[in-house]
Amino acid sequence: MSEKILVTRSSMPSFEEYAEMIKPLWESHWLTNMGQLHKEFEKSLKEYLGVDGISLMVNGHMSLEMALTAMKLPEGSEVITTPFTFISTTHAIVRNGFKPVFCDIKMSDYTIDENKMEALVTEKTAAILPVHVYGQICAVDQIRQIADKYNLKVIYDAAHAFGVTCDGKGVGCFGDASTFSFHATKVFHSIEGGAVTFHNPDLYRTLYNLKNFGIRSEEVVAEVGANAKMNEFSAAMGICNLRHIEQEIAKRRKVVEKYRELLRGQEGIRLLDEQEGVKSNYAYFPILIDETRFPKTRNQVYTELREQNIFARKYFYPLTSDQACFRNRYRDVDLTNARYVSDRILVLPLYADLELENVEKIVECILR
Ligand SMILES: *Cc1c(COP(=O)(O)O)cnc(C)c1O
Repeated sequence: MSEKILVTRSSMPSFEEYAEMIKPLWESHWLTNMGQLHKEFEKSLKEYLGVDGISLMVNGHMSLEMALTAMKLPEGSEVITTPFTFISTTHAIVRNGFKPVFCDIKMSDYTIDENKMEALVTEKTAAILPVHVYGQICAVDQIRQIADKYNLKVIYDAAHAFGVTCDGKGVGCFGDASTFSFHATKVFHSIEGGAVTFHNPDLYRTLYNLKNFGIRSEEVVAEVGANAKMNEFSAAMGICNLRHIEQEIAKRRKVVEKYRELLRGQEGIRLLDEQEGVKSNYAYFPILIDETRFPKTRNQVYTELREQNIFARKYFYPLTSDQACFRNRYRDVDLTNARYVSDRILVLPLYADLELENVEKIVECILR
């Protein structure tokens, strides 16, 4: 193919729509520090996500860091998490001074295996940090039960799950907190951005203070904080994109349906089943290539696609627990499923304006 097809492509509002949104900033000169657009964006997101509380952040990573800090866990705590995720999830734990305890995933949906979790609980375990990977919802009820039994906090990394609902309930309603990423490469974006959602109304103040250096007043800083504030230009982009999110998801759905139609039943290629009661956001289209039943390995397919200017991603490979910064540092647990999936998974290009003709070409190239 002559044009490059990347794994994702950022959606944008029209230039006029965005220009209109940022115009008042030339009057107010209020560019960041919780301005008017920040307030507006926070309010409309809260409604869209159907959550009790929300705090905007500068990006998804800081949303994770701030959410973990806000739980005020004891020093040296252990956090049970998945290694089958973007590196940010594990970094957020370690940068908070906690120990990640990696738990295996399920073959059914690639989320953390709730049945292997309890065996990992020790006196030091203080929280669970699962990921709704590819927008697949974790076993939220069972995880809640385990958390209640051992008095643990639950923070969901919902970076992949913007707009997903489960039996009509917004994904941001689960756990003590959930975090989102509005990075340009995600289903919904504010250029860079993120948010923490929660029930406990006290968390609004806690997070507000943490993202603003712990400052209480002109002369008082009450705790160690960071700078994780979202600026007005990002909030403006978020407000514009939120107006179009339903069309965006509908267009992605068409692409996913095409992929499914062309790949369904293909020997050696495993697609993820849609979960019951879950309204998807069609954020990713992962395929698992079983080299014992398909003539090529994942790496071969990846390379052949590249040669055709099609850029799929080995997402997530390697596991975060196998990265140089974390390898051999933490408890060695059995990660059989996570390793199996990580070695065979391939995320195919998917964005709202990906032409169905190109989906056909991508699938042809895979099956050739
Ligand atoms: C994108 C992503 C993040 C980080 O979000 P940023 O906005 O890029 O900082 C964290 N976790 C997961 C699972 C992600 O996909």
